[in-house]
Amino acid sequence: MTDVRDYGNWIDGSWVKTSGTVERSSPANGKLLARFADSSEKEVDLAVKAARKAFDDRSVWSALPGAERAKAISRWIELLVRDTDKLAKMEAEEVGKPIRFARGETEWSIELARYAAALAWQIPSDLVSNAGDANLGLVIREPRGVIAMITPWNFPLVTLFQKLPYALAAGCTVVIKPSELTSSTTLEIAALAKEAGIPDGVINVVTGSGSAVGEALTGHRGIDMISFTGSTAVGKRIAARAAEQMKRVGLELGGKAANIVFADADIDAAIDGVLFGYILNQGEECVQGTRLLIEEKIADEFVGNLVERSKKIRTGLPEDDQADLGALIHEKHMEKVLGYIQSGLDEGARLEVGGKRLTDATFGKGFFVAPTIFSGVTPAMKIFREEIFGPVLAVTTFKTVDEAIALANDTNYGLGNGLWTKDIDKAIQVSRELKSGTVYVNTFLETTVQMPFGGYKESGIGRENGMDGLLEFTEVKSVFVKLGKRAHALPHTAG
Ligand code: NAD
Repeated sequence: MTDVRDYGNWIDGSWVKTSGTVERSSPANGKLLARFADSSEKEVDLAVKAARKAFDDRSVWSALPGAERAKAISRWIELLVRDTDKLAKMEAEEVGKPIRFARGETEWSIELARYAAALAWQIPSDLVSNAGDANLGLVIREPRGVIAMITPWNFPLVTLFQKLPYALAAGCTVVIKPSELTSSTTLEIAALAKEAGIPDGVINVVTGSGSAVGEALTGHRGIDMISFTGSTAVGKRIAARAAEQMKRVGLELGGKAANIVFADADIDAAIDGVLFGYILNQGEECVQGTRLLIEEKIADEFVGNLVERSKKIRTGLPEDDQADLGALIHEKHMEKVLGYIQSGLDEGARLEVGGKRLTDATFGKGFFVAPTIFSGVTPAMKIFREEIFGPVLAVTTFKTVDEAIALANDTNYGLGNGLWTKDIDKAIQVSRELKSGTVYVNTFLETTVQMPFGGYKESGIGRENGMDGLLEFTEVKSVFVKLGKRAHALPHTAG
């Protein structure tokens, strides 16, 4: 689709080259797509200093009226809209996902930014006015400071836009480390911010590995908060490192969502939702509906229909506008997904469909795995418990509502779950008992920008999106004011 892209880091409003580079080739056809700077502690230090300077000079960004920041973010949004097709193409190529989903991702990212810009006008504060005539309390919100943002490869734009515009709206400055596999769109949107008039140093991007750049960023004394999206294993390491310096953290980690389908559901809608939930983004999705919990009396027919629908899923190259499913991110990850499929077979689950890599002429140069469904899955099996991050669905049956809830909650994760029933009482009661940050009722992966997102248990700490998401990027300060006494009687005037 495009020529090889060659990037430096984006620091203090300029491109800064390094001697080493990291190459990214297409996971769909092996073609070289981009070279990114292979950075070290030195570039991290430069970027943090630029962000620190921009933050500490209050006239640059952090102490501007919220309205001014809102307007700057809105100008940036116009440029993102202008460049939607370009950004979507890059995203499709580097992740391996079909272009229509990359376009949807870009548009959703812009929607998140629009809402964040609106919130910059109205960051809440409190007044304590009943502490006595001589006292006044002000509870104010200040931007947290310099934020390190570390993002994964599956949704490079959305995972960033759940953080960046909210932190900007709050008045923070940032240093971003995108995944070394998918850094192009992050670098592009940072350069667009300059074009929109967002001051130099407010957004900085340093590319490279987690072990060099990620570690240098999380340990840097100039960083006030780490906002991380990625695996639970790396999230735990970041939380431990942050604790050494008492840095604030926001963690958006892995998941193992269930779709619970009750016999009284709209079955056609549920089949659509379960199918979409397990194949979206090739299953490389933190809220992927990777477990189907299905009421026993409808299980055979439901799974039979799902298998037929799965056979019709259209796999395609990133430029295929009709494709439903693309390539997995890299070979090692594909091997991991195939390893989980093998473990399902070894542990006695029944393979209903798929279960293999696609190796024909069109897909053989890439890392494509067919949509795969296992039935007869028990909670002891690895495919029930662990995050697979591929197009693999594990089906387990239940007989009672209590059993469905217990199965859904039988996981260390708690990011999202879906449930399907026409009984509104049951829907609300079950939603209350599910231990996850999001519950989708009669839909899956659908939401609106006003609603916060985040995880229970090992799926994370904190929330993104909505006002809750913005407030994570603020610090609360109480200002207690002692007022001078007002004389109650007017001074006696001689008349
Ligand atoms: P990952 O944890 O391997 O990497 C994420 C980022 O962390 C990358 O930029 C990586 O370079 C960096 N990193 C790696 N080691 C580091 C270290 N020691 N210190 C600092 N940074 C380091 O995750 P991934 O494979 O890129 O993404 C997939 C994971 O992300 C899945 O577990 C998925 O569930 C999760 N995810 C969660 C959400 C959410 O919102 N909860 C969204 C998308 C993805």
